Amino acid sequence: MLRLIQSFRSLGVRHYKVLSIETSCDDTCVAILDRFDRNQAPKLLYNHSERLNSAEDGGIVPTKAHNHHQKNLAIIVKQALACTGSSIDLLCVTKGPGMRGALAVGLDFTKGLSVAWNKPLVGVHHMLGHLLLPRMESNGRHPQFPFLSLLVSGGHTMLVLTKSIVEHEILCDTIDIAVGDSLDKCAREIGIRGDMIAKEMERIIDQDIQQATSDQGVKIELPVPLRNQNGRMNMQAFSFSPFISAVKSNMPKPQEELSDNERRSMAYQIQEAIFSHVIRQLNVVLKFNGEALSGVKSFVCSGGVSANKRLRERLETELTKSFSFHYPDLELCTDNAVMIGWAGIELYENHNLATDLRVVPCRKWPLTNILDDPWWLKDSSNDR
Ligand code: AMP
Ligand code: ZN
Repeated sequence: MLRLIQSFRSLGVRHYKVLSIETSCDDTCVAILDRFDRNQAPKLLYNHSERLNSAEDGGIVPTKAHNHHQKNLAIIVKQALACTGSSIDLLCVTKGPGMRGALAVGLDFTKGLSVAWNKPLVGVHHMLGHLLLPRMESNGRHPQFPFLSLLVSGGHTMLVLTKSIVEHEILCDTIDIAVGDSLDKCAREIGIRGDMIAKEMERIIDQDIQQATSDQGVKIELPVPLRNQNGRMNMQAFSFSPFISAVKSNMPKPQEELSDNERRSMAYQIQEAIFSHVIRQLNVVLKFNGEALSGVKSFVCSGGVSANKRLRERLETELTKSFSFHYPDLELCTDNAVMIGWAGIELYENHNLATDLRVVPCRKWPLTNILDDPWWLKDSSNDR
């Protein structure tokens, strides 16, 4: 441990290289970042994600994800190091939340590298990676604290108020499934196939947007979840499972009998209804937290679904408060290791944090408790 802390100190904050690994779900992700200048975004020397195709299984099977990481991780890291030829100074890895077995593959591998190279390791919160990534921008347009983040992915849908790198308050969360999960399952019900099905659904809609939006098309009745009713007013939450039930019960005809145009029209209605729910609930939160949010000028949207152009357009035009909007680059919206490397850099440089080698994967790790982890090592010699 002493040797590790010594190397942690000797790293300082000058020019250094970061190897980052993300294996919390079904993508095996590796990146190498060059932190050549603290005032500029790091150079991305390598970035690769090997996705497990779970289309046939109808969802992620944890043992398959575990095997996928075991098969791929070492090979990708070897390739990354061969490509960049760089010696690594800091290791960042997702510590949680996620599937325990999947996380353990990345974490144990990174611990091994940390021991072999005698370099410090930072155990990163997966969602922190998603929400801090837009701060990596070098064009000076990055979100300023405090900012709001809408995290929309296959496993999460939450609105977070971020006051600093380690201070996060969840203002709105889903009471059932995530928005990406709902989009994927609804799309499957109407016969769309593929791996990222919601992305395929967006592609099908955009192929002929005029036809998709025409009111001549087939109609499907869709719900407005959490609408005000007796005894339940202005709920600050999301709910996406009612969309799947509605699509299942209200199909105008069996999916295999739908023409391409009918499928497109239904896809459009489903996507619109789900995004309308997101916008409506966000506006409820904005309305009832006016004072707490008065200083918030920036709005981040991150996670796989943030790649959707229509969602971005609707956020920018339909929220009742004006913000400057920030998104990751399209290829960095879904899970990736760049965000883990960047969040690790933020924790290391701004809070002097690294992680003890006895760390274990954390299946559940509330975003509100980033510092509440027994495995943080704080190095005061790095204070500036
Ligand atoms: P993540 O969990 O962050 O890796 O994101 C994966 C989720 O994002 C899946 O549910 C995808 O179907 C969804 N997704 C990816 N691209 C898009 C897109 N362009 N529009 C809507 N959803 C998307
Ligand atoms: Zn994610």
